[in-house]
Amino acid sequence: MQISEARAQVTDAPIEWLGGQQAAMTALLQQIVDIDSGSRQEAGVIAVAHALRARLEAAGIAAALEPVPGYGVFLDARVPGATEGPPVLLMGHMDTVYPAGTVARRPFRVEDGRAYGPGVADMKSGLVLNVFVAEALARCGGNALPVRLFFSCDEEIGSPATRERIMDVARGARAVFNAEPGRVSGNLVTGRKGSMVVEFEVDGVAAHSGINHAHGASAIDALAQKILALHALTDPASGITTNVGCVQGGIVPNMVAPHAQAQLDVRYTADTDIEALQAQISAIIEAESPPRTRGRVTAVRRTLPMAQTPDALLALYQHGAQQLGFAVEGEFTGGAADSGLTASVGTPTLCGTGPVGGHPHTEREYCELSTFVPRAQALALAILALR
Ligand SMILES: [Zn+2]
Repeated sequence: MQISEARAQVTDAPIEWLGGQQAAMTALLQQIVDIDSGSRQEAGVIAVAHALRARLEAAGIAAALEPVPGYGVFLDARVPGATEGPPVLLMGHMDTVYPAGTVARRPFRVEDGRAYGPGVADMKSGLVLNVFVAEALARCGGNALPVRLFFSCDEEIGSPATRERIMDVARGARAVFNAEPGRVSGNLVTGRKGSMVVEFEVDGVAAHSGINHAHGASAIDALAQKILALHALTDPASGITTNVGCVQGGIVPNMVAPHAQAQLDVRYTADTDIEALQAQISAIIEAESPPRTRGRVTAVRRTLPMAQTPDALLALYQHGAQQLGFAVEGEFTGGAADSGLTASVGTPTLCGTGPVGGHPHTEREYCELSTFVPRAQALALAILALR
């Protein structure tokens, strides 16, 4: 009863139009989930961009595809209408974590109101949601500020090719809404850890392990010591975690290992002195322990933490959700995303505005289809309220 009364208050034309779009949204979702578009699968990412552009252009929204060699394209679209003032940015990424061939094995399907398939939650449903919100505004208007869609193509590997461009586009925007999946609780994401991947190698001295054991210096021994030291940097109280997630090394059992390598994942918060932490990590990797071994860092990739969403922006979204009859809170997560980049240039950023989804980066990944329309409507209301 309360819910229907609250709903009756929302009469904006874009909200009404979105109310009838669940089937169309699901159809577009199926179309793009059924295209393999893992990071660096350039042709697949471009095919997803073309499918989204077709829908946008049919609604009168011009969309440019900017090449990102090796990764695909940016999709950059501006909703016609308001042109004065700083833009509101609807962001997303078109790449997934899944290898080519995944779609053939487990294509899009719907079961008990949940959609399944590679990238269905993270974040193809979010892309579709953003496209339909843009279309609602293009058809019905009402937004005071310009609205721009900006979809990238390498987020799942830490945005190596697009981070500068994303920060450029976000600079001076009024607000960023990043359509990563809504949490299983239904909540939005108002803070994220940053991540850092450190790849490193260790050289030792090879020797026959039976005849000349003492002549050898084991790279695997050195790696093991470094792993323990790196893991000891984990400090839950300050939000720092370290995880050596893959290791490789040695040649045969009867040779003292001349070489080993590993990849370390570090998560940290916006309060962490990341330069100091990285220096500590390098010192551990480069320490000559045991003697005659040598370690070196071969690559470092970072995703910035997302500083807390300003209360005012969260409140704006919450107010719209409340009018629609649902309550939503902000939540902190250890997962990194491009929203860290946009928050780092000082633009108010709210993340997790996509439909509710679960088990991202697994075969059980799903999208809760019943949340498609209400979350699109809540996002539209937040945009309509922005000045
Ligand atoms: Zn994502």
